[in-house]
Amino acid sequence: MEIKQNMQVAIDGPASAGKSTVAKIIANKLSFVYIDTGAMYRACTVIAKRHGIDYGDEEKILQAINEDGIELKSENGEQKVYSAGEDISLEIRTPEISANVSQVSALPKIRKKMVDLQRKMAGEVSVIMDGRDIGTTVLPNAEVKIFLIASARSRAERRMLDFKERGIKTDQTVEEIEADIAERDYKDSHRKISPLKKAKDAIEIDTTNMTIDEVVNEILMKIQRKEKSLKK
Ligand code: C5P
Repeated sequence: MEIKQNMQVAIDGPASAGKSTVAKIIANKLSFVYIDTGAMYRACTVIAKRHGIDYGDEEKILQAINEDGIELKSENGEQKVYSAGEDISLEIRTPEISANVSQVSALPKIRKKMVDLQRKMAGEVSVIMDGRDIGTTVLPNAEVKIFLIASARSRAERRMLDFKERGIKTDQTVEEIEADIAERDYKDSHRKISPLKKAKDAIEIDTTNMTIDEVVNEILMKIQRKEKSLKK
C-alpha cells in the first residue's frame, strides 16, 4: 500500500492497548517513520534512576536528560533506545521503570522537552506516533487520530506475553499486572498537563476482541480513506 500524501497519524490510548504493536506494523507497511513517545518518557525515568535522582526532582532530571540525551534508532527493523551512548531498550521495560514513569511524565518541564523533541522528529515526514497526548497536544493537526482501548484484563494478559517475548523475567501475576496498569492509567488520566484523553476528532477502537491484523486493517482503511478525501 502506498500513501503519497504526507501524513501524520496519532495513536493514543491507555497502557498495553496494543498501540505500539499496530503502529510498528503500519509504519512498515506505509514506510512511515514510527515514533514511540512512551519509550521517551521511560528513558527519562531510566536516566533519573541511573543518576540516583528522586523521580519528582524536575530540575535535576531535566539537567541529566540534557547531559545524557535520548535517541530512538531503528536497527534491523527494531526500535532501540539509547542514552549516553548505551542501549537502554530492555531497561526501559522493567517493572521499576513502569512503576515510576507516570511520576516523571507528569513533570511539566520534562513534558515540554519531550513534546518539543517529538515535534522536531515528526518534522516534514510522514509519521505514526503513539502515546497519550499525541492527538490532543503533540500533533493536534494530525490527519488521522486513533484512540485504542481494551479491557484491563486483556491488556494485562498482553503485557504478560510482552514480557515473555522480550525475555523480561517477572514474578508478577496477571492480577498484579492488571492492578499496576490500572494505577498507571489513573495517574496518566488525572495529571494536570496533557492527561490521557481522547481527542474530540479521534476515532475510538476497542481492541479487546480483535486480532492485531484486524486492528491494523481498520486503521489502514481509515488512513486510505483520509488520503482520498485530501486529494479531492
Ligand atoms: O506507552 P508506554 O506504556 O510505554 O508509556 C509509558 C508512560 O509514559 C505512560 O504510562 C505515561 O506516563 C507516559 N507517556 C506520556 N505521554 C505520552 C506517552 C507516554 O505521558 N505521549
